[in-house]
Amino acid sequence: MDFATSKAWYERAKKVIPGGICSNVRLNSVPVPLFFERGEGSRIWDRDGNEFIDYVMGQGPMLLGHTPRPVIEAAKATLDRGLVYAGQSEFEVRAAELITELVPCAEMVRFNCTGSEAVHAALRLARAYTGRKKVVRFEGHYHGWFDNIAWNYGVMDPAAQGPRDDPNLHPASLGQPLEAAANVIVRPWNDLALVERLFAQQGGEIAAVLCEAVMCNWFAIMPQPGYLEGLRALCDRHGALLIFDEVITGFRLALGGAQQLFGVRPDLATLAKAMGGGMVVSAVAGAADVMRLFGEGKTLHAGTYNSNPVSMAGTVAALELLRADHGAELQKAHAAGKALIDGLRELGNDLPLPLKVQGPPPTFQVFFAPGDSQPIVDFRSSLKADLELGKRFWRALHERGVRTTARGLWFVSTTHTAGDVDQTLEIAADALRSLA
Ligand code: PMP
Repeated sequence: MDFATSKAWYERAKKVIPGGICSNVRLNSVPVPLFFERGEGSRIWDRDGNEFIDYVMGQGPMLLGHTPRPVIEAAKATLDRGLVYAGQSEFEVRAAELITELVPCAEMVRFNCTGSEAVHAALRLARAYTGRKKVVRFEGHYHGWFDNIAWNYGVMDPAAQGPRDDPNLHPASLGQPLEAAANVIVRPWNDLALVERLFAQQGGEIAAVLCEAVMCNWFAIMPQPGYLEGLRALCDRHGALLIFDEVITGFRLALGGAQQLFGVRPDLATLAKAMGGGMVVSAVAGAADVMRLFGEGKTLHAGTYNSNPVSMAGTVAALELLRADHGAELQKAHAAGKALIDGLRELGNDLPLPLKVQGPPPTFQVFFAPGDSQPIVDFRSSLKADLELGKRFWRALHERGVRTTARGLWFVSTTHTAGDVDQTLEIAADALRSLA
């Protein structure tokens, strides 16, 4: 593949845009962060005309493929009527109604533009509602880049991690003061006894437990049986709120998200990505007696671009498409994901490479770890995986026209066909042979 045009644009970009990219996640690309020309369905084309079967899918928003026609048409239809009203449109009401119909915990909804903001809103609500300050989060979970919650994501150095039962606080970034984490408590994922002990000691001060119900941002680690139920019970017993960050899992694992799949109802959930089919939109949703605080005026929630008509019209169309025929559309992503997982595992069996696949079909993780190793259940147990080999596989796929996230998470869409799956598996087989 030739990347001359992307390389030229990248050189130009670096002079005016730090690092040449506008989200640091995109620093990771080969051979340079690529410039894209267009996407359609499951495919994406860069400026050099290289075609990829895409499993990045915008890092999640493009569950309905790169060009979901009903979403695009609905957004287009509003464009000629003004872009930002600083006022209401019918679309936000219809979108909120659809969310309350589909998502178990959602009795009321407020919209923002990004997942980070939705998490911010959920934490604000939890603290205002409980009158408490502390928030429990888990090692390796990602909840956006804001100062007060971007802690203990991807801490590789064991010395920096500190003790497992009470990890050191570790910022995601330079420029994050330790004071910003004054009310953050970190624990490993999937160890209920440690959260129990924490609540026994500090239960009266904990406003909320925040988690990705499936740890999608690191190795797609499922909750252990009973774990989410255990968190629910602890929060109930101690008067804390349970918040599921469903920015990735919402509308993807099931129409009602992870909370529907696992049958555990949080007090609040954050939603984004798949919800809007690519529109710039996020939401916090949850129990009416918590959500209503935003309506009483003393608990601040704001945003110039919140519920702009273009995003909301597109979101209504995306949600209606997902809801139709009891979620028939979503089942396509599940079927394609399952076929990919089965196929990749089979390829792994035939080669002297410790290939592993885990996670739910519409967003799963591919990695390499010794066959006899313990299952990966939390961030620290993931570190026995061969991350370097994972990177080499990612590059080998990319060179052959299959684009996945650099960290090995694959996002499957409703537009990935059986033909895409077959072609992907052929390419994956060739890429794996090149590594073996
Ligand atoms: N929460 C989760 C679970 C996410 O995956 C992300 C983004 N990947 C965010 C929050 C932050 O969303 P955004 O990038 O839109 O701010």
